Amino acid sequence: MQPDNQVNRQRIGIYGGTFDPIHNGHLKVADAILDAFHLDRILFVPAFVPPHKRKQTISSAFHRLAMLALATADQSRMFVSTVELESPERPYTIETLRRLQAELDHVRLFFLMGADSFRDITMWRDHEKLLTEFDSIVATRPGYLTGEDDAPPIAAHLARDLQDRIIDLRGNRRPVIEHANEMAAPTRIYLTDYVAVDVSATQLRETIARGEAIETGVPKTVAGYIAKYGLYHNSEGVHC
Ligand code: ATP
Repeated sequence: MQPDNQVNRQRIGIYGGTFDPIHNGHLKVADAILDAFHLDRILFVPAFVPPHKRKQTISSAFHRLAMLALATADQSRMFVSTVELESPERPYTIETLRRLQAELDHVRLFFLMGADSFRDITMWRDHEKLLTEFDSIVATRPGYLTGEDDAPPIAAHLARDLQDRIIDLRGNRRPVIEHANEMAAPTRIYLTDYVAVDVSATQLRETIARGEAIETGVPKTVAGYIAKYGLYHNSEGVHC
């Protein structure tokens, strides 16, 4: 029998966002990160956005959740969590991660974000705690984290002690996974560029509003759902 601290722990990725709608950018990033980091699963966590805090029209939580469920239905390692949708007020990411960690004892959580979110992370509540208490994985997006934006250095906006946590895996490099003693290993901020998918939810919503097809940007089931419920067809949006 292995000593307790050498048992392979589960590794779970947490992918938060508005997901209005989920698209192939999210899915391809999730797939690449699952493989590279030997994650057991990824939880997509759609954000609850209270009506009074909406800066733009956002589809109802029910539509966003339904699209996530459809997009991940045939992906055995991808799940959807309603942890934020069930909160009365929009929780900060740090609160969600702590809550999930309390429920998932002995699981190592990896917070996933796109390079645009990483660029803005210092505006997030308690970002130092987020980047210290949990591992983070940053996925490149066309135009970000690609090398051309290396001056100023990609993490220049972070405090020195956070910069020291960075493991730069750009150039398609794989992380070194040490399962033994993993729970005691220090948390890291991994920069990755496994896939660069030029899709955004904003582009997709605009394309639909112009009456054009979006089949290459989202799974077929999601495209069917959007058409069926008439989502994004006008600037007001259709909200149930
Ligand atoms: P919007 O255009 O409405 O801002 P989005 O396409 O950025 O939406 P979100 O739901 O806001 O999608 O994103 C959730 C997370 O996924 C964020 O961390 C974001 O950076 C990341 N992300 C979104 N699209 C991509 C992509 N094509 N490649 C890598 N990361 C992405």
